[in-house]
Amino acid sequence: MSYNWCHGPECHTQQTQSRVRGSGDNKVLRTIKIKQGGYNGYQNGIWDYFCNQRCLMDFIREHITSIIAIAPRREALETPIKVEKTKSQDYRYQWSNGEHRRVPYISTRTTISRVDNG
Ligand SMILES: [Zn+2]
Repeated sequence: MSYNWCHGPECHTQQTQSRVRGSGDNKVLRTIKIKQGGYNGYQNGIWDYFCNQRCLMDFIREHITSIIAIAPRREALETPIKVEKTKSQDYRYQWSNGEHRRVPYISTRTTISRVDNG
């Protein structure tokens, strides 16, 4: 079984029991060791490298410029869609004179669906 050290730059400073190592007066907080494949590739294996959300975000904050440089977005992407508006009879409830009244109105539902141009 192989392991990674958590890549969170501040992992070894978080004060949790799970990070305490050593004995007597020589105790330390140590970076969390993560078993690889523990989450079966969930989210592309991101959790093979980070022990929690905070460590992931700390890493991203520290290295954001380098991360973006790997795959910079220089123009907007577009997804072809179809927008459909359908009207239908609906009801709202109005409180007046101590009773609820059912009041009809026309509601508009907007549906966005992908257009497959493949
Ligand atoms: Zn961590």
